Amino acid sequence: MEISKDHPRYRSLVTRERMSELVGKGVVASTGLIAHGRGEAFDYLLGERTVPAADEAARAAAAHLLEARHPVITVNGNAAGLCADGLIALAREVPARLEVNLFHRTPERIERVCRYLEEAGATDLLGREQDAWLEGIASDRARCSAEGIGRADVVLIPLEDGDRAAALAAAGKTVLAIDINPLSRTAIAAKVAVVDELTRAVPNIERHVRELRDRPDERRRLIEEFSNERNLERMRGAMCETLHQKG
Ligand code: ATP
Repeated sequence: MEISKDHPRYRSLVTRERMSELVGKGVVASTGLIAHGRGEAFDYLLGERTVPAADEAARAAAAHLLEARHPVITVNGNAAGLCADGLIALAREVPARLEVNLFHRTPERIERVCRYLEEAGATDLLGREQDAWLEGIASDRARCSAEGIGRADVVLIPLEDGDRAAALAAAGKTVLAIDINPLSRTAIAAKVAVVDELTRAVPNIERHVRELRDRPDERRRLIEEFSNERNLERMRGAMCETLHQKG
């Protein structure tokens, strides 16, 4: 479909087209489109921009990634479809391992998402082999890579569901989430939830990683001072403000 660049929602429309094409290619699950729509609605409430509290959370997440011994970034179909290049660049910058981990998992889909990321330049991907289990999840979704999530101390989970976020936290991992819904179970279970749209949040975390690389004292201070609960409260406040302004 031809979309005019003058259209006020050009970016959103182009993204929708791409996501829908990726459903056809088996990278994005059809229900992933519904999750994307929920994300778009919350972004509306943020005025489609990174607000100061989200930027602070991104900086705290960057500090955790740099302090980690075995940082892992998980990637599902939506995250790959929306932000493959950004996630690959962030993983290189930290450096962290990338692990493909899907909600709707079949060996074919795992292979498709892995190939999609590899075509975008990912190397050394984890996820094809899932030889470990997370406690506390009854389904197949407990599976993960022993070399990745299994041994990770810090896990960045873009667009993860609440059960897995809680199971990762219960397994003693430091959970960093990117989720634009400040009410989601994922955002609440995380040590740091970056409440921002994925394609803004990922390069922003990467920028903070670069800035904090040679500042270990600042990193530790950021980690100590960050309160996820307070940050989520500020994010809910920012959304309420947009609603009031538009009235
Ligand atoms: P919970 O975490 O409460 O269990 P859920 O599992 O129902 O929520 P999903 O349907 O799995 O949530 O959707 C994943 C989350 O990702 C949603 O909260 C949605 O708001 C968020 N989301 C979707 N698209 C984006 C995006 N582009 N950027 C950031 N967050 C997004």
